[in-house]
Amino acid sequence: MIEYHLGIDSTDSLKLGMCTTYLGARIIEALAGMGCEFERSPDLVRLNPNIPWKTRGNGAVCIRMMHAEGGAEEIMRVAQGLTDKLSVLEDEQANPGIALVTGSVPEELKDLYIKAVHEVVEIEYAISVGELCGALMKGYKNRRGLIGALSAIGAMDMPNWTWETMAYRDPYSRTRERMVDPSSIASLSLRYPSTFFNIDGSGKPLCIPHSPCPVMFGIRGTDAVDSLKAASEVACSGMERWVLWRTNQHTDAHIETVENIDYLKELSSVRMKGGVARRPSYHPGGHLSFSLEDGRNHTIDCWAYEPTKDFRKRLRGLIEGDVVEVWGGIRAEEDGMPACINLEKVLVIELVQLMKRTNPHCPECKGPTESMGRGQSLRCKACGFRNGTLHPVLRPVERDLCTGFIDPPEVAWRHLYRPSWLEFSKEPTKTPASFWGRGPLSPITGGMISVRSERSNREQGVKKRGLNA
Ligand code: ATP
Repeated sequence: MIEYHLGIDSTDSLKLGMCTTYLGARIIEALAGMGCEFERSPDLVRLNPNIPWKTRGNGAVCIRMMHAEGGAEEIMRVAQGLTDKLSVLEDEQANPGIALVTGSVPEELKDLYIKAVHEVVEIEYAISVGELCGALMKGYKNRRGLIGALSAIGAMDMPNWTWETMAYRDPYSRTRERMVDPSSIASLSLRYPSTFFNIDGSGKPLCIPHSPCPVMFGIRGTDAVDSLKAASEVACSGMERWVLWRTNQHTDAHIETVENIDYLKELSSVRMKGGVARRPSYHPGGHLSFSLEDGRNHTIDCWAYEPTKDFRKRLRGLIEGDVVEVWGGIRAEEDGMPACINLEKVLVIELVQLMKRTNPHCPECKGPTESMGRGQSLRCKACGFRNGTLHPVLRPVERDLCTGFIDPPEVAWRHLYRPSWLEFSKEPTKTPASFWGRGPLSPITGGMISVRSERSNREQGVKKRGLNA
């Protein structure tokens, strides 16, 4: 038996349905049927979130398996057959790519994954890397899907990862509604605190898509077993199959730390420290922006858009001179609008101490004091006391903002966005023995091991944000 890595991307359509992860699930089943063995969960990776031609979350998948030597063509045949059958080729946006590597993953593909998360990759470049690595490739239409397919193979050594158990329904049922009881999701969120992105602050489910795609729901978390168990407790009907994906979601994999504005590249995502040069102000549509100075006298505008809701309200408290670190995507210069940072989160590092001139209380009767005129001292309004030395004093003003992270609400999270409170397991999380199946997920009672022993992320998040549980 030797190892094979099969990458797939760009098979779906926003309007007409399908999902590359569903196709992945079908391919896993078919490959299992021909004797492939899976020792680890398949990978679902999110690539550069700023790519203009992505359909949704710029996701691509890689199935890693063991099979007899000489099995590459058969694996490709199975993958191609199902891609021909299920992908939405009639949608202009779908340009499927399938790539297969035999043996260990070459360094060049690992570098391609890093590049595809941070930059824009040319199709020809990706194909040349695939050829160099001896990958078998099948690109449909403009072959752009090969970028994601090859990059997903290269995601072998992601330093941090999370899990998502995805449940699927019949792919031909293209309704926007799912047969899922939202109250079961609210209650499992409490029972499995290592899972997140289940419901928003008002209890509305976030993990159920509204598109015509085959995904019924997805349970994300930092513990594989919890994610599976939680998914098995979702009250739903019509589950056709499920897969537990290892993912780079919510790991900030797309973020690069840069020293100053000179290092910003369009369509990349960065983390940069600076001082507030112009305090936040609102614009038509409810969007908010402030200007950030990078310590070298260069400034760039940072934007928080209307859908980020309370995030804007909290940022509004910043003033000139405050020191912050921002995380966000670089929006290219467009229609006369200069390049800017679309904010994902902000760390408030230092707040300027604001001072206000106030009149002291009367030293005799503690009553309020008032000025006796321009350039003169104060006198007591209540008892009339004056001694010629009573003058206004400067007192610190309490800011309506404190140091620490400002995160947007869940509804505004991008797939790769790492909430400031999310911590990954120190040791590698053990994967359950089984990570895919047909039919409904039955409640899992034993046979699986969890190595998470730390406090839950949610507890930590609640504590860090100073909220009551
Ligand atoms: P979904 O999340 O539903 O799978 P999607 O947002 O992933 O949809 P795709 O249909 O996969 O959308 O389209 C994204 C396309 O962009 C793919 O063809 C992929 O190969 C390509 N792509 C991904 N990352 C990059 C990159 N860094 N540079 C250039 N092209 C990229």
